[in-house]
Amino acid sequence: MYFDGRGEMIPNEDSFCEIDPDVTDQWGIPVLRFHWKWSDHETRQAAHMLKTFSEIGTAMGGSVVGGKVETDGAKAIARGGQIIHEVGTCRMGDDPRTSVLNAHQQSWDVKNLFVTDGAPFVSNADKNPTLSILALAWRTCDHIKSELAKRNIG
Ligand SMILES: Cc1cc2nc3c(=O)[nH]c(=O)nc-3n(C[C@H](O)[C@H](O)[C@H](O)COP(=O)(O)OP(=O)(O)OC[C@H]3O[C@@H](n4cnc5c(N)ncnc54)[C@H](O)[C@@H]3O)c2cc1C
Repeated sequence: MYFDGRGEMIPNEDSFCEIDPDVTDQWGIPVLRFHWKWSDHETRQAAHMLKTFSEIGTAMGGSVVGGKVETDGAKAIARGGQIIHEVGTCRMGDDPRTSVLNAHQQSWDVKNLFVTDGAPFVSNADKNPTLSILALAWRTCDHIKSELAKRNIG
């Protein structure tokens, strides 16, 4: 039996993206540069998962094979980006100083710009974000329709 854990990453100020000052894509447009750091929240969560997995196996009468159970969460956790359900980078919020978008996924700075993918997420409880992306996009579409009718955006 094989166990593989997933958990939530708590946003931290050391993980962000910015315009790369040096690198451009094939059209000459600057690319994004990413900064990433796990915090204690994630590494302790990873160590706790491994401990729990081994306890479950042992309680069922099994034994752990394939090496020792890693107790150092920093060694146990996967590299950032490896688990393929990362979201965020363009988060929504209620304060333009700390978020890029408002609750309708509308840019604070450019009123007719709406971001309807995984970027507005402030966190991700575990994985499978697609249905939430669709639900939020649906809500954004309703908002755009209503704002257009009121001529608040053009
Ligand atoms: C193998 C795999 C399996 C998955 N399985 C599931 C699942 O079962 N259920 C689930 O809910 N989620 C799953 N996910 C996650 C889900 O696919 C993603 O969370 C979702 O696709 C994110 O949508 P997005 O539009 O934010 O980003 P993306 O779908 O990554 O879209 C980003 C787009 O931007 C484009 N792009 C990037 N840079 C530039 C640039 N400089 N200029 C122009 N375009 C650019 C890319 O080409 C891409 O088309 C899976 C992901 C992977 C990789």
